[in-house]
Amino acid sequence: MENVHPQTGIIDGFYNPADYNGAVKMPLHHTSTYTFESAEQAAAFFEISQGKRAPEPGVGGFIYSRLNTPNLQLAENRLTIYDGAEMGLLFESGMAAISATCLALLQPGDIIVHTEPLYGGTDHFFRDMLAHWGVRLMGFGPGETFEQIADRLDKNGEYERMAMVYVETPSNPLNTLIDFEVVQQVRNHIHSQGGAAVVVADNTYLGPIFQQPLKHGADVVVYSCTKYIGGHSDLLAGAALGSKSILQKIKKVRNSLGNMAGPHTAWLLTRSLETLELRMRAAEANARALLGFFEKQHAVETIHYPGYKRQTDIYQKQCSGSGATIGIEIRGGQEAAFRFLNALKLVRLAVSLGGTESLATHPATTTHSNVPENVRAHYGIHDNLVRLSIGIEHESDLLADLEHALKKSQQYA
Ligand code: PLP
Repeated sequence: MENVHPQTGIIDGFYNPADYNGAVKMPLHHTSTYTFESAEQAAAFFEISQGKRAPEPGVGGFIYSRLNTPNLQLAENRLTIYDGAEMGLLFESGMAAISATCLALLQPGDIIVHTEPLYGGTDHFFRDMLAHWGVRLMGFGPGETFEQIADRLDKNGEYERMAMVYVETPSNPLNTLIDFEVVQQVRNHIHSQGGAAVVVADNTYLGPIFQQPLKHGADVVVYSCTKYIGGHSDLLAGAALGSKSILQKIKKVRNSLGNMAGPHTAWLLTRSLETLELRMRAAEANARALLGFFEKQHAVETIHYPGYKRQTDIYQKQCSGSGATIGIEIRGGQEAAFRFLNALKLVRLAVSLGGTESLATHPATTTHSNVPENVRAHYGIHDNLVRLSIGIEHESDLLADLEHALKKSQQYA
């Protein structure tokens, strides 16, 4: 399946029906372990799996479902297609992918140079979990120039400990963009001073259809596949993609922790991937239709959407679409935001995003409630901010629901 369009590869790639009794789709492999034809074969499979022996045609195979399964392998291979990655790994959640990546690439005492704001779970993992292992943080914001960031790195001076530049763009929940060119400059500066930082990019919001960070210099891209990639709000999964040399290190951690996606999740993801581009484009069209409506609403004070009326230069360099997650600030503070949320009927009140159905949430009291108040204020996550994940329902029904709820938001009891 070489030289085909990604949309073809995502449906037909890496799979030969003849290997599975002619099944058009790979059957689900619910088994925890695999039999060997001989003790010699078992020994050979283990040697290959542990990297002690190079894979040979016809030798090497499945051993135990914590290490690999046919469903996991197919989903991982297909996931590499859009991002153009050498290797992919699937996990049982986005946080499992992010935490395994950090555990594989960081040592106690290392520094993560990271963008702000971050998804609340990542922020919590960095601040409260990695801190126990002596990992330190240096944040930088979307408005900062390379010179400003480099100045702070120089003041710190511990370049040999700056092991990771962690980027979330667009950021959750503000949709701010980080310029990958600036990230490259930061990485190169650390390298020129003796550090060996690896760039890890969380591409959950736009990827892999509207943004491919590996093509903009990232070494590893991570996903919450719970969102657009899974796309139906019926599974939890995560992924890490990149070069074999780095991904093998992360795989070692996953093999030990056992936080891989199970065969059923991998099977569901393989199915979801086939419609990923269709779903993301349909949801984006809905989101764009709503922008024009929000603009005219007195009840909407601010709109946060990638590349929308700000950061257009960065948007044009690295994004081919804006996705379908919109932040709106409601006039009247948290009380008005709550009235808006409570009045929604079609749009469901739930955390998460990227599903076929539209969802709404209040970040300050839910997804980002673990982020200290002063840090939230510094990030600009205000109490009147609502995050909307726009689905693929009919635009007219979404408009009617949102219009009704915005009206209610301005009605005091
Ligand atoms: N990264 C981003 C940007 C997210 O929005 C989320 C979840 O909301 C995660 C990572 C974590 O993913 P999961 O909930 O699948 O662990």
